[in-house]
Amino acid sequence: MSSRIYFDHSATTPLDPRVLEAMGPFLGGAYGNPSSLHQEGRVARAAVDKSRAQVAALIGATPDEIIFTASGTEADNLALIGAVRASGKPGHVVTSAIEHAAILKTCKFLASGGTKITRLPVDADGLVRPDGLLRALQSSVTVVSVMAANNVVGTIQPIEELAQFAKLHGVLFHTDAVQAGGKIPLDVNRLQADLLSLSAHKLHGPKGVGALYFRKGTGLAPIIFGGGQERGLRSATENVAGIVGFGAAAELTRKELNQEAARLAGLREYIATEVLRNFPNAYLYGHPTKRLPGHLSFGFRGQEREVGKLLDALDQAGVAVSAGSACSANHSGEPSSVLLAMGYDAECARGLIRVSLGRFSTQQEVDCFLDVLSSAVSTLSDTAPSASLAGLTNPAEVAFA
Ligand code: PLP
Repeated sequence: MSSRIYFDHSATTPLDPRVLEAMGPFLGGAYGNPSSLHQEGRVARAAVDKSRAQVAALIGATPDEIIFTASGTEADNLALIGAVRASGKPGHVVTSAIEHAAILKTCKFLASGGTKITRLPVDADGLVRPDGLLRALQSSVTVVSVMAANNVVGTIQPIEELAQFAKLHGVLFHTDAVQAGGKIPLDVNRLQADLLSLSAHKLHGPKGVGALYFRKGTGLAPIIFGGGQERGLRSATENVAGIVGFGAAAELTRKELNQEAARLAGLREYIATEVLRNFPNAYLYGHPTKRLPGHLSFGFRGQEREVGKLLDALDQAGVAVSAGSACSANHSGEPSSVLLAMGYDAECARGLIRVSLGRFSTQQEVDCFLDVLSSAVSTLSDTAPSASLAGLTNPAEVAFA
């Protein structure tokens, strides 16, 4: 495994060893239930409280504004269903056309109960236009939900501006920051967000832990019922080890964010330049500058239908990249709904290759990836065969030869 190159950090990230170390005691001897009053319980409670403060600090919130959930998906569900339920009416949710399924399918569920859903269009770079939101706000709206950064094309939305419009109309603003969390600076007060979703496994923390930030005073009803944990908003015995991992991951990410963002953006620009230089038919997706630092998506004109074959070839050669969202079984050759919403034709909407870098990605890996990519692309093309690299099963043989 170690010789593989993992460039799919938008799907999930490897656990940082420092996070694993912090979690260790809570997978072993420190097994108390945070709701218990004895010493074992108090140790667990203190650990959960510390993590709550660490996650809050990542987004400029206070600890009592953080609700731990079992995923980013659950945080999104709680934000939208919780806000609509708390309003006491079917209400109206305004969202974008390129949200993750955790938002889109929650909206579909709400629509089945009578909630009106407005999906804001995006431009060719994947940006929601603020004037579109202004128009939607002419009618009564319960909550606006626009993702901070897109998982397929990496475009970063003008959240501050969008939230400001929602606030001017007295409407709640939620942002799904699962992809943006820990990758770009996020401050809930500067953004004026009322609700914000995060997920630990996207920032080198463990899977199965998320958080919803909710601004004090925001009307929110629970969607899970039971023992009343998490201020009554998310019943269930807390996943203490997972929460501790989330806290440790959030703290590391916060401390390293600026330096890491600059490093990853440099590697991404290098890949983009090389891909465009080496392949005359290559093109990039998403906004050229307003994008996640370690995220690049591109395609090869005329070879869009061969993306599945290309990804398989890369995988066999030791490189993991993806065709967009990990959640939408994508070697299927189906056009991406995100790209269709951005105005791509069905052909180009099939052709996306997503490269997403993380904390442990290196220049050496990038160079190796580019070699392997050349080799894999040449197997697709009639005109550019060869490459002495073809057939390699271990990219390390190229990089370190
Ligand atoms: N929202 C976005 C934008 C995502 O990219 C993802 C996961 O890929 C999710 C929500 C769901 O997060 P989780 O995997 O923690 O449920």
